[in-house]
Amino acid sequence: MVLPLSNLTRQGVALAAESSKVDPESPAAKVLEYVHESPNPLRRCADCQLFKGSRTAKWGRCALLAGKLVNARGWCHSWSG
Ligand code: SF4
Repeated sequence: MVLPLSNLTRQGVALAAESSKVDPESPAAKVLEYVHESPNPLRRCADCQLFKGSRTAKWGRCALLAGKLVNARGWCHSWSG
């Protein structure tokens, strides 16, 4: 079976994006007590001053978790409003 190159590229991009999402079980995330779903809808990563990205995006960067994507609906104890 031969897949079109465009399919392989899309899969590669999807896998790369998936692997760059922060793992809440990783040591860095555990130190921050990061979770993908904030327990408080008024304190989410998208509303945090350390969040880098569009407020309407599902994922963005965080200054404390360099190289990884945090969920816009996530939270950690270093949340800064
Ligand atoms: S500091 Fe915490 S709450 Fe703020 S963007 Fe980073 S992970 Fe989210």
